[in-house]
Formats: sequence, structure tokens, C-alpha cells
Amino acid sequence: MLGSTSTTVKNFPLKRRLCFLLKLVCFVSSVLIFCEFLIYYVVIFQCRWPDMKSPAHMSEKETSASVLKAIILADTHLLGEIKGHWLDKLRREWQMERSFQTALWLLQPDIVFILGDVFDEGKWSSPQAWADDVRRFGKMFRHSVSTELVVIAGNHDIGFHYEMTTYKVNRFEKLFNFTSGKLITRKGINFVLVNSVAMEGDGCAVCRTSEAKLVALSHKLNCSQQKANHSNKRCSDVEKLPASEPILLQHYPLYRKSDAECTGEDSAPPEEKNIPFKEKYDVLSQEASQKLLWWFQPRLILSGHTHSACEVLHAGKIPEISVPSFSWRNRNNPSFIMGSITPTDFSLQKCFLPFESRVFTIYCAAGALLVILVLAHVQLLTPPFYFAQRLISKHKAV
Ligand SMILES: [Zn+2]
Repeated sequence: MLGSTSTTVKNFPLKRRLCFLLKLVCFVSSVLIFCEFLIYYVVIFQCRWPDMKSPAHMSEKETSASVLKAIILADTHLLGEIKGHWLDKLRREWQMERSFQTALWLLQPDIVFILGDVFDEGKWSSPQAWADDVRRFGKMFRHSVSTELVVIAGNHDIGFHYEMTTYKVNRFEKLFNFTSGKLITRKGINFVLVNSVAMEGDGCAVCRTSEAKLVALSHKLNCSQQKANHSNKRCSDVEKLPASEPILLQHYPLYRKSDAECTGEDSAPPEEKNIPFKEKYDVLSQEASQKLLWWFQPRLILSGHTHSACEVLHAGKIPEISVPSFSWRNRNNPSFIMGSITPTDFSLQKCFLPFESRVFTIYCAAGALLVILVLAHVQLLTPPFYFAQRLISKHKAV
């Protein structure tokens, strides 16, 4: 009996220590689960599909069925084997995977467009490195059959113009079933995909093929928009498409001098805004931009590449949205665009992802709290008087 009592007394501090350790583990895992998993639900849950002005003769149900829900993101830059540090890769890919999967689950889009620079090193990667990048991309951006994924080529996927080879273009096109001048029509809405790297205008083989396809498609679309009673010989044997004005999707933005006019919390930082853009490098050339506007007369242009947000109006009426990067490697506040689109109208809304600085603040606050809890537990924080008293009583006992 006496033996068992002394064992209980001896075990008490051990039990307390174990209990405290368990509490610490629970605390640390809760912080980790919140910052690495739940935060994406909390933040993306606040994003809403933008409303459309519904025509008076249509019911709400009819309207929602005719609206295409599209998510548009850009510049994921999945790190490659040469420039990517493994920890950077692991963290960025986890963040993008969680954001994308949470957005799919909460928002249920019909279609997702990625506006190029999906990979960081597609411009020079070996077949093995390419295969590894593709495998990771497939895992991160997995999706159900009810959501379509459309990917557009960027300069980091196939190289800048002078690095672009038929081999690199073909491997990208084969993987994503992408071709420049491809038309995607959904719910009567025409989306035109453009390989903007092939808009150099120097008559290179890839550029020639791409431009020929774009010209042929623009002819078809222009013929389809003509009134039935307006007979045009050149349109007589052209396949008819939905008459909706197209939306252009490309990687490089159309020509603009700089980002000086761009506003908003995710536009370029002030020190970069006034740096003039280089044609055919930062933005398309003036000539290529004019061509695209003439050929298609688009009602909207969506582009990536600059990693920052901007809204520009071309020819006083055609809006272009520069979609910021989806990767935390490029921004503290990545985002994607949510679009409610019909054949005649569209409404866009930005959905911000968790700010990296806020996640770090939570980790730092949790770390500080953890240190205080541990110190309090080992009683280093006991007021000096009690601490001294305890030392003396211990000394006496000895
Ligand atoms: Zn780019």
C-alpha cells in the first residue's frame, strides 16, 4: 500500500510533463493545420461569383444556366530542377495546390484558364525534367470531368522567341492540346487562344503557321457576326460559329508603354511602374497588338506575364486585364479572376488568396506564445521572490 502511494507521488511530475507535452503537440498541430490547410477555405469562402445583369424576359434559373463560370489564373511558374531550391518548390507547390483544389471545391467553375508560364524551366528543360514537371503539374491541378482546364503557352513554357523551337512548341501543344488560333466555344461564348510568343512578326516557321491560323479564324468569326440578310461572297461557304464577339486569351499583354497607369493593391510596386516596357519582351510589339485588335475586335483580352495586376482600355473601348501571378514566389498577395460570362456580357471579380505575410505573422505569434508557455511551465517566469524562497528551502532540505 505504502509502495503504491510512493509510486503515484513519483509519477505525478512525469504525468504532468506528459500532459503538458501533449498540449504543446496539440497547439503546434492546430496552428499548422490552420495555416497550411484551413486558411485556404476561410479566405476563398469569402469570394463570390460576380452578378450578371439578367435580361427581364429570363428567369433566374435560365440565367444561371446560360452563364459560364470561368476562373482565370496566370504564371504559376512550377520550379524546375536547375533554379528551384527543394524547399521553395515544396512550399510554393503546396500553396498553389491547396488554393486550386479549395477553389474548385468551393466555387465549382465550369472552366479554368491558365494564361501561360505554367512551368519555370520549360524553355530549357530536358525530357526527364519536363516529365517530372508535368507529373507535378498533373497532381496539383487535378480536376473532375465537370471542370475543363485550358492552358496557354508562355515564354517560360516554350522559350522566348529566339529560344522557341518546334520541338518545345510541339511538346507543349501535345501535352495541353493547345494551338495558337484555337477557338474554344462554350455556352455560345468564343474564346480565342493565342501563342503570343509567336507574334514576333519576323516570319519564322512557328510565327507563320500561328498567324495563318489566327487570320483564318478571324475570317470565320467576322463572317459569323454578319447579319443574315447581309450577303458577302467571301463568307458564303464559311462554317458558321456563334455570333458572339470573342475573348482573347494570351500570355504577353498587348502593347502598353509601362504600368504607370495601373492601379490597385496588386499593381506593380511604385519603383517598377515607370520603367518602360520592352516590346516583344515585356509586352507584344505595337504592330502585333494592332493586328490582334484588327483581326478579332475582341470584347475582352486576358493576359499574364507581368505578374502584377492592370486594367487597360485599348482603342477607348476594348478592356484588357493583366492577371497577376498565382504563385507566392512572385507575390505576397496572389489571386485569380472569377468571371461570369455570357455571349453578350461579362462580369469579373478578383479572389485574393491568403497573404503570405499574414501566415508568417500567425506563425511568429504562435512561436512566441509557445516559448512563453514552455518558460512558464519550467517556472522561469516565477516572480524572483518565490524563486529565491524555493532555492533557500531546497538548500535547507539538503
Ligand atoms: Zn512570361
